Amino acid sequence: MVIKKPRVVIVGAGIAGLTAAHRLYTTNPDLFDLIVVEAGKRIGGRIHTSEFAGDRIEMGATWIHGIHGCPIYEIAKKINAFDHPRSTLYDLSNDNPPTIVIAEGGSLVDPSTSNPILDLFTTLMETVDSRGLPSSAGPGVGSFLRRALNTFLADTLGPDSSLSGEWTVKAMQEAVFALKENVLRVNSSADDLDDLDLNDEYHDFPGEHIPIDKGYSRITEHLAAELPPGTIQLGRKVRLIEWCSHGGGTSPEKAPVRVVLDDESVEIADHVILTVSLGVLKEGLKEEGKAGVSLRFDPGLPSFKKDAIRRLGFGVVDKLFMELDNLDGGKFPFMELDNLDGGKFPFMELVFHPRVHVEKIPWWMRRSPSIWPINGGSRVVYTWFVGKEAEEVEGLVEDVVISGVRATLEGFGAHDNKFVKRVTWTKWGQ
Ligand SMILES: Cc1cc2nc3c(=O)[nH]c(=O)nc-3n(C[C@H](O)[C@H](O)[C@H](O)COP(=O)(O)OP(=O)(O)OC[C@H]3O[C@@H](n4cnc5c(N)ncnc54)[C@H](O)[C@@H]3O)c2cc1C
Repeated sequence: MVIKKPRVVIVGAGIAGLTAAHRLYTTNPDLFDLIVVEAGKRIGGRIHTSEFAGDRIEMGATWIHGIHGCPIYEIAKKINAFDHPRSTLYDLSNDNPPTIVIAEGGSLVDPSTSNPILDLFTTLMETVDSRGLPSSAGPGVGSFLRRALNTFLADTLGPDSSLSGEWTVKAMQEAVFALKENVLRVNSSADDLDDLDLNDEYHDFPGEHIPIDKGYSRITEHLAAELPPGTIQLGRKVRLIEWCSHGGGTSPEKAPVRVVLDDESVEIADHVILTVSLGVLKEGLKEEGKAGVSLRFDPGLPSFKKDAIRRLGFGVVDKLFMELDNLDGGKFPFMELDNLDGGKFPFMELVFHPRVHVEKIPWWMRRSPSIWPINGGSRVVYTWFVGKEAEEVEGLVEDVVISGVRATLEGFGAHDNKFVKRVTWTKWGQ
């Protein structure tokens, strides 16, 4: 007697879908009849190693967040995805460029002004992490932080004193605090920090945080390569998942689940594993009732699941990569700093003035926390955008983006801004 294997359709070939397929297949290759249907033309989803200006860049995930016990680290080691025993990127023992904290206008931030604020921010986030938000904190993490900053500034400063240019101590401390908020926006992908009521929703593995030298995509490629040919089907977008509560028959009409694709083909399934992003699910709810636009369910999802999808926040996060030109003498023209010699762009943290803005700097750059080389010594540097700024940048053309980043560098003290040659950026919101 031939026993029919349960048919499992996995929707999405990002790391979640590929891991599910890999686990089911490698547990026992004869147990399931398995396919993975992927809307896009490539596997990996938000893991996408690419190439720009002769360097390897990560459009999405870069970091293994803690190596001890992390399955991704174990795969990366097994497939020799590290050039070195451990990644030397950002390893301070190698010849990395310096980290500099620059204020709008071009002056270096003096640690004696910034350190008390950095300590305050760390303490506040530790409070949120360990105890959650105090009930008096207001709508979210954003208000809690701002209230504490205002108390700090009121308690510790007498009359404000001038620093250089438009800067006073109070403005500088506010701006350094905003830099930390901008980093938090990137890490949490929250457009508005008041949408956050917890900080640390991620649980890191213990140990170092490291990137994968040969590219994060090595992981997804490895998972895919261990599946039988034909398991992953690209360019197949699911538009409807029909669950038939009285299903169980062998004919397509009686199948427990019918997965309807964009081209109207149908995959029947005993089980479906859905791994699309929260954004895709949110879009589906917005357009519920309209046929054919995004992913729908029939019958619709139960209301508690819809509520969870609506309430869970997740904003857009994008990266912008810039190719830097070779400069005469290999120097970057920042404030004549000797330690920027040797052609290495610094790890540069950006402190924007809270009130007096350099006019040329576009609003969509003003909450980017840093411009960093992708590794110490690379001529490709990158910055981050979150929320409204990310959505704006996704819609811009290259010339506008280049002049925006050049104006920003000029506003931070570069006296020649033409060393940014070319840019490329992600559009995860689309
Ligand atoms: C800029 C950025 C930086 C990041 N950095 C890190 C980092 O350093 N470290 C880290 O651990 N994480 C990082 N992340 C998060 C990490 O990339 C994601 O958590 C992870 O890749 C999500 O994998 P997934 O399989 O759940 O979803 P996805 O990768 O989104 O995969 C879902 C797949 O489903 C497909 N799909 C969608 N709709 C349909 C449909 N209707 N039919 C068929 N297929 C469909 C999509 O095309 C996609 O391929 C980062 C993310 C971004 C955007």
